[in-house]
Amino acid sequence: MNFQRSEEQQMIIENLRKFLDNEIEPAFREHGEGFIPREKMQGWVQALTEFGMTKAPFGEEWGGFGMDWLTHLMVFEEVAYTSLDIAIPGFINACGAELLRRTASEEIQQKYIPDILACNKFIAIGISEPDVGSDVAAVKTRAVLEGDHWVINGEKTWITNGEYADVFICTCLTGEGELTHILVDREEHGFETVGIPKMALNGQSTSQVFLSDVRVPVSNTIGERGQGLKNTLKIFEYARCHMSMWGVGVARRAMDESIKYSQERKQHGKLIAGHQLIADKIATMATKIDAARLLTYRAIDMVERGARADKECAMAKWFGTEIAVTAARDAVEIHGGNGVTKEFIVERLAREAIVSPIPDGTTEIQKLIISRALTGEQAFR
Ligand SMILES: Cc1cc2nc3c(=O)[nH]c(=O)nc-3n(C[C@H](O)[C@H](O)[C@H](O)COP(=O)(O)OP(=O)(O)OC[C@H]3O[C@@H](n4cnc5c(N)ncnc54)[C@H](O)[C@@H]3O)c2cc1C
Repeated sequence: MNFQRSEEQQMIIENLRKFLDNEIEPAFREHGEGFIPREKMQGWVQALTEFGMTKAPFGEEWGGFGMDWLTHLMVFEEVAYTSLDIAIPGFINACGAELLRRTASEEIQQKYIPDILACNKFIAIGISEPDVGSDVAAVKTRAVLEGDHWVINGEKTWITNGEYADVFICTCLTGEGELTHILVDREEHGFETVGIPKMALNGQSTSQVFLSDVRVPVSNTIGERGQGLKNTLKIFEYARCHMSMWGVGVARRAMDESIKYSQERKQHGKLIAGHQLIADKIATMATKIDAARLLTYRAIDMVERGARADKECAMAKWFGTEIAVTAARDAVEIHGGNGVTKEFIVERLAREAIVSPIPDGTTEIQKLIISRALTGEQAFR
């Protein structure tokens, strides 16, 4: 077991950090927290693919780097440290491409995967609906067969990348208790999206998706009919590792900002870094960040080796996203009154952190998955 980065990974991360600090951070600050238009976002995420974002785990036949998910996640952590808004589209493109790589026909793979990896196209994955959240099996969006076409009607919500999406993987009810993934191409088949304003992460897109009598050829079925839930659960494993690293990125930034501030701010005649209760907060952040990262490295290693990893991915997702919440809160406290002003980035981190535990299964759901694996008792129904 080797916990060191390889030389190649080290080089990628060092170069990436310089690029993020010198190019992305100032550009993102100048843009502010408002919605990042597609072209601008695309320019940024395409530049990041050259460091392995999205491309690292995929073979050269797809235009990937033939590396691994671990490297992609290391890159994702770095980008999340600088800007979650800019990190998220590549996360969804990577998971969407993996879903296609695992389950789509060769024709669909050839048509979409290279463009998704290069971020020439954006993909979105839609399970959630106004009445369907934690209970992913309860999907209502219906696809009915008419000849050699599906006709889809329904509404999805909270869809990441929604407004950018050229391609939408829609989880549809295709029969009694039968969920199926269907690929909808915005240009060929059409769907409408409306952005959802949130407390944070408004730079990237979270949207409603409306499908009204959308006709899609049956050949756009992704995976076998009725396998939508099973295939979703597999992709959740990748997504949950990303969510954990999302938390690690936010928590690490919160810690670094706290260290810097505590080394400058004096109270009671000394730097606040020297006060033991501040030292406790920083030591706790550092330890939890390492623990979350290690949980994630284990989880993604198991996923890559094809081992069952639902429990380990759930542990990583729960822990990684929740430590972001506590680290960001502690960072605000370490900054005192300054921590709640727009002048200091920890204010933004705190809002972003609060969002973290929700997507891809809440903390409660992760705990149910972990306990089910340990006790064999099904807590969901
Ligand atoms: C920023 C963001 C991006 C997202 N991106 C996507 C996306 O790209 N695609 C997509 O399909 N969805 C996406 N989602 C949706 C996300 O997966 C859901 O919000 C999440 O699964 C929770 O569902 P819900 O919001 O309906 O909450 P609910 O399921 O209504 O849950 C409400 C509360 O009840 C708790 N709860 C529910 N069931 C149980 C139970 N059995 N036991 C104990 N507690 C329970 C939950 O933990 C939560 O605290 C996104 C959400 C956000 C916030």
